[in-house]
Amino acid sequence: MNRRRFLTGMAATVTMGGFVTARVSAEDLPKVSEDDPTAKALGYVHDAAKADATLRKDDSNCSNCQLYQGAEGSQWGACAIFPGKAVAAEGWCKSWVVKA
Ligand code: SF4
Repeated sequence: MNRRRFLTGMAATVTMGGFVTARVSAEDLPKVSEDDPTAKALGYVHDAAKADATLRKDDSNCSNCQLYQGAEGSQWGACAIFPGKAVAAEGWCKSWVVKA
């Protein structure tokens, strides 16, 4: 009986730990800098209105990019191009891909 309780408790702890880890990683990612070498190479800007107008499609920004992983309505979110960093929902870079 004690062993069953121990294993049940461990499973609950592991599950809760997973939720905490996911929450921290989604909300506390450091914001990518516009001076980051990859950001510069891709023309990333926090404000899509400041992007190179000859390259940017109308109304394209991170929030409507296929690679944006932020929640609906979020101001910042993860992006596959910048692992471990957050990009601005209103940002933009040359790797923008229309959300399917
Ligand atoms: Fe934003 Fe998409 Fe560029 Fe990532 S790939 S920085 S989500 S436009």
